[in-house]
Amino acid sequence: MMLTFGPDRRTREFTCDCCNAPVERAWDFIHADGAPHAVYFANCYHHTNQDHDAWIDVIFGTWGEGPDSWGDHIAFACRVGPVAGQSTPASTLVTAGLAHPDDPLFGLKLDREAALRHPRLNEFWQVSDFILENDPLARAHIYGR
Ligand SMILES: [Zn+2]
Repeated sequence: MMLTFGPDRRTREFTCDCCNAPVERAWDFIHADGAPHAVYFANCYHHTNQDHDAWIDVIFGTWGEGPDSWGDHIAFACRVGPVAGQSTPASTLVTAGLAHPDDPLFGLKLDREAALRHPRLNEFWQVSDFILENDPLARAHIYGR
């Protein structure tokens, strides 16, 4: 499966709820073999008093026919950042969609336990790895420029 970005990547900056530091968000489609496969949101935090981490939401399901087709959507999420005792950033499953409480695009938001049991978990890790390696914002935030 060949993953690529969709043609419409966007970014936005907003203010952190916890410390008013800037948060940078990138989002786009991920295509698999040329067809829409998932949508992601990568939120990169610059907290003043906590680790600088990234939270990545990935939504799978049917695309292209608008909200009427969103009934099968499922969302996974991970937090990527420093972990005590490790020299490299690590990805940890977290509850999906926390920054998007009312957005029907996300469909079923999996928590960590549900995500661990879900048959599409491997697809989520493939997509999140692709984002970390290739999205310029997420990559720079986690690995440096
Ligand atoms: Zn903060």
